[in-house]
Amino acid sequence: HIILAIETSCDETAVAVIADGKHILSNVVSSQIDVHAQYGGVVPEIASRKHVETMTIIIEEAVAKSGYQLSDMTAIAVTQGPGLVGALLVGIIAAKSLALALQIPLIGTHHIAGHIYANELVSTIVYPSMALVVSGGHTELVYMRERGSFEIIGKTRDDAVGEAYDKVARALKLPYPGGPHIDKLAQEASLAITLPRAWLEEGSYDFSFSGLKSAVLSAINIANMKQQPLDTSAIARGFQESVIEVLTTKAARAVQQYGVKQLLLSGGVAANQGLRQQLAISCAQIGVELLVPPLSLCTDNAAMIGAAAQLKLERKQFSSLEIQAEAGFSLEEW
Ligand code: ATP
Ligand code: MG
Ligand code: FE
Repeated sequence: HIILAIETSCDETAVAVIADGKHILSNVVSSQIDVHAQYGGVVPEIASRKHVETMTIIIEEAVAKSGYQLSDMTAIAVTQGPGLVGALLVGIIAAKSLALALQIPLIGTHHIAGHIYANELVSTIVYPSMALVVSGGHTELVYMRERGSFEIIGKTRDDAVGEAYDKVARALKLPYPGGPHIDKLAQEASLAITLPRAWLEEGSYDFSFSGLKSAVLSAINIANMKQQPLDTSAIARGFQESVIEVLTTKAARAVQQYGVKQLLLSGGVAANQGLRQQLAISCAQIGVELLVPPLSLCTDNAAMIGAAAQLKLERKQFSSLEIQAEAGFSLEEW
């Protein structure tokens, strides 16, 4: 089985060729970060236009690098949602055109299922399993009873982790996207300011990061008002410590309560060094295997979409050529 996968849900134009859902033959990612950085965040209209400009080139590059030809493909997979509608649409139209021209099946895929299945490209998932999804738009604990089944047992009630990282970074005048910059500052900092942790109700697996974000913003405002110098590193470290403690504690509790053997970390914030280190310690303590994708497969890419599409290919769950972009596509009904 050779799948050509396309991902355009946000600001990466990505195309990959995957064999049997496991082997990456090519994985090309064209990031628009430079373009959006000057606006401090993703501008949807610009994202769509950039996808249109690069789509064909990236498809050609991914096919050429795979060592195969378009006529060798078994199916075309594409991110159907969630994401920016205009951005998703570009990938979907390209995918439909290819499926139609090559007379092969089209497989509409869920972006977050992709982030989770990125782990399948480097490890083997053992079910039942638990995923901690931490990305720019999502923060979720997902229980997976068996392959292809997703039950969200907890999610953020306000900001996603990546979003909180980016907003705090912006307030600290760090470049976009801010996650990696805060991570680096936090690792180097010798001091940390004390910030709140949002545990919510006893036993809840939900998350909340807007209170923490507000606490950071007010610490910055107070320092500015008093004309005190800002200890950016201490703020970054305090923020990161709060985020990591909450994520790690809730994930460890979920893993134990659901009796799973693995914890899968996924999404763009899975690239966070502090989070990877702390989860490794916690998982070792409770005797659970931690799966973490390599950095290149944490942030948006199409290889993960090919990995997630493999299951639908085996089950012949093909999509019609009429599918539309689903900005709010549900993971549980993907
Ligand atoms: P979603 O997957 O929810 O639709 P998205 O695709 O925009 O959102 P991803 O590409 O998965 O998000 O992740 C991007 C996010 O990851 C950004 O918010 C970025 O700041 C964050 N991020 C990347 N590297 C790190 C890091 N080292 N530490 C913290 N955050 C990071
Ligand atoms: Mg991105
Ligand atoms: Fe993503």
